[in-house]
Amino acid sequence: MDAAICDQVPCPMPVEWNGAIAFLDRDGVLNLGKAGYINSPEELILLDGCAESISALRHAGYRIAVVTNQSAISKGMWGESNLKRIHSTLRSMLLAIDEDAHLDIIMTCPHSYGEGCNCRKPHPGMLIQASQILRNSSHSSFDWWGTKPQPINPLDLMVGDRGTDMGAGWAIGARLFKVDAHTGLSEVIERIITGEDGDEFKPVN
Ligand SMILES: [Mg+2]
Repeated sequence: MDAAICDQVPCPMPVEWNGAIAFLDRDGVLNLGKAGYINSPEELILLDGCAESISALRHAGYRIAVVTNQSAISKGMWGESNLKRIHSTLRSMLLAIDEDAHLDIIMTCPHSYGEGCNCRKPHPGMLIQASQILRNSSHSSFDWWGTKPQPINPLDLMVGDRGTDMGAGWAIGARLFKVDAHTGLSEVIERIITGEDGDEFKPVN
């Protein structure tokens, strides 16, 4: 089983890192999702205010980790070079709107449901891996079906449009923010920055 695909670029911070990571789902949080998949850069449509919201997160001291399930890859619909093109275009589109809207790392799970990987959300593998890379530490805060674990940083947060996103964020103890897939990140940015707690998500036992 291959690991998640990691796309990391060195990104400047406008302020000192506060030690926390904002984990963001991609489709329905940054860009409009689509029945099936986003299959090419041309299909990317950014949601209103998402570049400004990423910039606001960075100005509040967060580093950004995008975590996205893209099973089109394991289904053989397209490969890693196409994924790279899509994500390089996504980065350019964001920076064209706001020069501080950098994405530190984009983790992609290429697997399908039932393949037994540990990265496909709601599994928290991509979040754990991104945390270890950005923090340069092997430490992980992880609990699957027990009580919600202590996060590595109390400000760590997950934004997504699905329960599977909330499950992955819950498993690393992150603050949870669920958004409407047509509104995305800008819907919750004020609550994140002002420190209002996100939605609580309780896994079904
Ligand atoms: Mg989504």
